Amino acid sequence: MGRYFGTNGIREVVGDSLTARFVTDMVGAIGEVVGDGRPIAVAWDGRTSSPAFARIASGTLSLGGFEVQELGVMPTPCAQYNVPRVGASCGVIITASHNPPEFNGIKGIADDGLEFTPQTEEAVEKAFAEGKARRVAYDRVGGIRPEEGSIERYLAGVRAQVDGESIRRRALRVVMDCGNGASAVSGPALLGQFGLRYVSINGNLDGRFPGRPSEPTEANLKDLLASVPAYHADLGVAHDGDADRAVFVDEKGRFIPGEKVLTLLAREEVRAAGGGTVVTPVTSSQSVEDVIAPLGGKVHYTRVGSPVVARAMAETKAVFGGEENGGCLFPRHQCARDGAMTLAKVLELLSKTGKPLSQLLEELPPYFLIKRKVECPIALRQQVLAEVPSLLDAGKDASTRVITLDGVKVVTPRGWVLVRPSGTEPIYRVFVEAKDRAAAEQLANTTLEKVEGLIRKLQGTRAEA
Ligand code: MG
Repeated sequence: MGRYFGTNGIREVVGDSLTARFVTDMVGAIGEVVGDGRPIAVAWDGRTSSPAFARIASGTLSLGGFEVQELGVMPTPCAQYNVPRVGASCGVIITASHNPPEFNGIKGIADDGLEFTPQTEEAVEKAFAEGKARRVAYDRVGGIRPEEGSIERYLAGVRAQVDGESIRRRALRVVMDCGNGASAVSGPALLGQFGLRYVSINGNLDGRFPGRPSEPTEANLKDLLASVPAYHADLGVAHDGDADRAVFVDEKGRFIPGEKVLTLLAREEVRAAGGGTVVTPVTSSQSVEDVIAPLGGKVHYTRVGSPVVARAMAETKAVFGGEENGGCLFPRHQCARDGAMTLAKVLELLSKTGKPLSQLLEELPPYFLIKRKVECPIALRQQVLAEVPSLLDAGKDASTRVITLDGVKVVTPRGWVLVRPSGTEPIYRVFVEAKDRAAAEQLANTTLEKVEGLIRKLQGTRAEA
């Protein structure tokens, strides 16, 4: 049976593997597995093919006898927020997040607003493989109706989580880069509702992503980095294509690594709750543990992938969760990565402290996180993983901690190393963190040499055999 759902939904190339038939069959399978007597919500992002695929999804479900609530074009977290609030049995959002424009995809949302569980995804894939989908006679066809006010409901939910009066008083200036993605329909509106002056760049919805690539990396945000000091703004914010992530630029026009914002917000949430659990993948910075421990907080590590983080947060009743790529989850709002909520919390923090963003970041423990990758044939993946602990001298002394939730992470008092296979590509990712740049780079170089040497040795052994 084929696997279609990756760590974050289905992503395929439009007109190639992603066709009208594929969407009909997959959405039909979703209705078959998850649908019950309740309506099903359909939402979509701003990609060129999204309106078409969304209509195919709605039509398929309607012909399967389901009532369809069309939520409209919106960020993924907005759809997740609305699914439980409109009483749907599930939601289908047509999106490929930050992927290049030739991609589109399907993401399933459960009735609690969280992503489908891996079990649900497998059941859907099985139904898809078997060609299962409900079909009904003319007198049981479901209605399709637009659900008005979904974006305003979501933005009101975001505003309810922060001190709007304090944000209004501080009157920060913001440059927002929507990257022509789905946040164009909600992000600038939120800033306006807070009474803030803002400059919007790439703020028109355009599925060709003419302004910049959809992934909000430092290299892709040159216009934003230049705009923040040029407009004398207090901060810049950029979202990915479906706005479940937010990344920030300080008032000096410097890109802020996601793990810094994660650490800052983890500290605030733990402080506000008087302790509690923070859920984050094994790829996250040690600084999260360092800043929340004195406040009575503890870290619960998970495998990589925001649906995993979201489920673990619900199970551990966490006060906060997030990833180092700018995806933060605030459970009092919803257990979903949420770019607008993350922005609102950063605005609130700046407003309440009165400090510039650069200063708040300087107060954090100094850590340097380096990410590299090594090519590794899929056939060697398991053998490499088996050898990594001894390669990294894991367990050599008592001060070393080994975490094997996802790849192998070796934590020492001087820093940590994580070696994990990519879920989708024939590569190993190597993450290294240390207290200064030189130490991190040295550790990264020696780890890369060791892993590359191991792969060469295993390839040689295979060639001989
Ligand atoms: Mg995304």
